[in-house]
Amino acid sequence: MKQTMKAITVYGPYDARMEIVPKPEATGDMIVAKVCRTGVCATDTSIYTGDSSFIRSGEIKYPCRFGHEWAGIVEAVGPEVKNFKPGDRIYTDNFVTCGKCEACQTGDYMSCPSIWSVGTVNCWDGCYAEYMQMPERHCFHLPEELSMDEGALIEPASIAYDAFRGVTLTEKDTVVVYGTGAIGMISAWLAKYYGAGRVILVGRTEEKLQIALQIGADFVINSRKEDAIAAVKKLSLGGKGANMVIETSGSPQALKDGMACAARYARISVVSFYERNIDDIAIDPLVLGCFAMVGAAGRYGNAPEVCEIMRKNPVKLTPVVSHHVPFEKTLEMFENDAEYRKTRIKAIITFDE
Ligand SMILES: [Zn+2]
Ligand SMILES: [Zn+2]
Repeated sequence: MKQTMKAITVYGPYDARMEIVPKPEATGDMIVAKVCRTGVCATDTSIYTGDSSFIRSGEIKYPCRFGHEWAGIVEAVGPEVKNFKPGDRIYTDNFVTCGKCEACQTGDYMSCPSIWSVGTVNCWDGCYAEYMQMPERHCFHLPEELSMDEGALIEPASIAYDAFRGVTLTEKDTVVVYGTGAIGMISAWLAKYYGAGRVILVGRTEEKLQIALQIGADFVINSRKEDAIAAVKKLSLGGKGANMVIETSGSPQALKDGMACAARYARISVVSFYERNIDDIAIDPLVLGCFAMVGAAGRYGNAPEVCEIMRKNPVKLTPVVSHHVPFEKTLEMFENDAEYRKTRIKAIITFDE
């Protein structure tokens, strides 16, 4: 008899169901792991509500077995798996490739034409489930210094990490981060790790801003209470504005504010999805200021690299975990999203051991 497990599938806006489904099997080069922690992402919420731009564009399709941030314990390995065994603690990439095409053969996994994203576009079954199946090439050992919660934070950290690609920061640099979600917090944490002289985080919720100070931000600005553009300029080293702007909030206003307080030659990293296009962004200041504006969505290789920073950095990221929610209460959490949102930085789903 086939073994089963519980998993959550979204069938349409506000229609998520916890169901009994077949448990994946450890065939070929596949690893089957028991999920221990699943991180709740804004993307998951937008799949649940239907507000994701990828739902509107048809790139994410219902039914969707969502969830892409997780850590777990290997339960079974396929006959071709070489470096993992049952009992190993693992985290994974947030995508799966075919492993056979020309791109995959050269290790350029991001160019694989049949790439599946875990729990999103061209959906690989996600981690609001008791078990996950992933090919060995996308699995990594979770260092013993890191907790399972931290393991589930590696995926959002691997996205934030992309914001810094090609950037060198010094003690003369000011970095401003917009957004108090996990990616915003982790961006501030990374900016400090990379040696920025001043790190400022802009948000709208006092309790969350206090957490930013705990993980390394030098200053926080509550944009509900003060003029954030003026405040960033005033706090920036030399009063010249921010040398690096990281927009993680998905708010069009935050993107505009970030451009308005950027210093000449600033790097502007956009690490968020926006529910809609923004049609009144002033481009001339970008040209005149010689800004470099880049999108950052993560890429192959980021996860183990940022994991190593998490292992080495004495400043722990765990304060960003604002909630632990048992798997059985996941649907209830999505139904009461407005309530959670007030205090949520990163909610983590826990599973019975
Ligand atoms: Zn995510
Ligand atoms: Zn491929």
